[in-house]
Amino acid sequence: MYETGKPMVLEELELDQPGPGEVLMRIEATGVCHSDAHYLTGDLIAKTPIVLGHEGAGIVEAVGEGVTAFKPGDKAVLLWRPRCGNCEYCLAGRPALCPLGRSHGQKNELLRGGTRLSKDGVRYHHLMGDSCFAERAVVSQESLVAIDQDVPSEIAAIVGCAVITGMGTVMNCMPEPAGKSIAIIGAGGVGLAAVIGAQLVGAAQIIVSDVVDSRLEKARELGATHTINSAEEDFAERVKDITGGGAHYVFEAIGKQTTIRAGFGALRSGGTLVVAGLGRTQDDISIPLNHLVQGEKRIVGSLYGSSNIPLQLPEILRLYRSGRIPLDKLLDQSFPLARANEAIKHLRTKTVGRLVLVP
Ligand SMILES: [Zn+2]
Ligand SMILES: [Zn+2]
Repeated sequence: MYETGKPMVLEELELDQPGPGEVLMRIEATGVCHSDAHYLTGDLIAKTPIVLGHEGAGIVEAVGEGVTAFKPGDKAVLLWRPRCGNCEYCLAGRPALCPLGRSHGQKNELLRGGTRLSKDGVRYHHLMGDSCFAERAVVSQESLVAIDQDVPSEIAAIVGCAVITGMGTVMNCMPEPAGKSIAIIGAGGVGLAAVIGAQLVGAAQIIVSDVVDSRLEKARELGATHTINSAEEDFAERVKDITGGGAHYVFEAIGKQTTIRAGFGALRSGGTLVVAGLGRTQDDISIPLNHLVQGEKRIVGSLYGSSNIPLQLPEILRLYRSGRIPLDKLLDQSFPLARANEAIKHLRTKTVGRLVLVP
């Protein structure tokens, strides 16, 4: 990506050898996420030129000095937030909040500084330390989680962002969910993964809203008990009807003011709204104060499923391998890298589940 508002360009770049603590990955699959689209539109800001892509999986081809946890041939998932392992958040099992991971992401560099991508002497930037809309990527070892060889690469890729965000948010931010109601706003990759999570934890009512009927159909296939096309019906009113007063939990997977307000309006007293959608950098929200206080409602943000990723990602893959969660049903079509721009366009209305780029 050279600038916002313009399509990505497919071209050949120079990739440095992995430095100390770094790993050269051959990318086998990369999910196409709304966050990538947000950088293209300018809703989220990155340094350019930059290679997008942050939901990938692949095979280790080479390791830099001092890397002992990975060797050539290993399979791994790329994470979009590396962790230092030593700060208060890493030690508390909340690696997504690691300040080092965040600051390197904002610089669009790798954890140890600088970029490993260039062309004709110009340095190109990394998106979230990954840049996996590419055949190969050099990443920090802290951006990887090793997985078993027999996990299909498309599945491994989407687990690294959409699945762990959707399922993790339900499992980590919604205590005692069995028998309760969970309403999910947005049936994209994250929202559909949340449906799988809600089904797994035993929610009695799983209500899903979107404006695309084929996505709602997919949500029902995955375990939604009710669906709402919010272009035609009032989300909050319908949720109140279905649940007899409002949902115990609402999961907002879009990141827009209107949907966050609608989510708050759909809570029962004592309920919790979890916002996991990433909005435009400059946006804020307003909510009716009296309902917040008198209804003892809670609004919490959740990043990366609030997951302890190195532990929970393998747990999710174990659930997948034992047949407990149908992650295959989250996969939409696969495209080659040459169709990356088309894939981004499909995100808005056409994809059902996750579209994956296969280099
Ligand atoms: Zn993502
Ligand atoms: Zn840390």
